[in-house]
Amino acid sequence: MESLDYALVNGRFQRPWASRTAMDSSGRVYVPSVLEAGGNAIGMGCFSTEQIAWEVLKTFLGKSEQMNLEQATIVAWDVDVVGENGMTVLTTLEGKICPVCQRRTFWVDLEHLSALCYGSQCSAWIEQSTVDPEIIDCGWPPLRFLKQVKDIEEAYNELRTIGADVLASIDEHSDAVTQTLYDSTNQVTE
Ligand SMILES: [Zn+2]
Repeated sequence: MESLDYALVNGRFQRPWASRTAMDSSGRVYVPSVLEAGGNAIGMGCFSTEQIAWEVLKTFLGKSEQMNLEQATIVAWDVDVVGENGMTVLTTLEGKICPVCQRRTFWVDLEHLSALCYGSQCSAWIEQSTVDPEIIDCGWPPLRFLKQVKDIEEAYNELRTIGADVLASIDEHSDAVTQTLYDSTNQVTE
């Protein structure tokens, strides 16, 4: 009987599910997670927008040098859909050693050809040029270093050179920026 689907809410007849949260109307949740080297997955919760899921993941990856992580993903799950049909992988990142700061905070998106160090005071990056896909941009913001190269290997080499220069300059004289950078590597986080 049709009337069984309705309930009296605040003096009005409504379908019983009309008072549920906004999540039901979008029907999608966004789940960031990371995979440890041993295969153990760590979930960070599920979120109502992709943007919030990204913020949560970025914060987590900023401390990824304290763990041995291999992969990070953001997956969209459609609510009430059974099995893999309800799942869409939006982003897959692979954890690497940063060519500049040498911490395991360099996260590479192989599909979109971009990489970023999430470690504090570093932010070394590599990205395919939006103007010309044949060109790879790379940079290191603390020195305002920016260079265009032909391939990804060359970009790594440029950043490794920066890393070596920075390390050498610490040996010679303590530059404030680089000193902070390398101090943060050994920082004890409570
Ligand atoms: Zn770095």
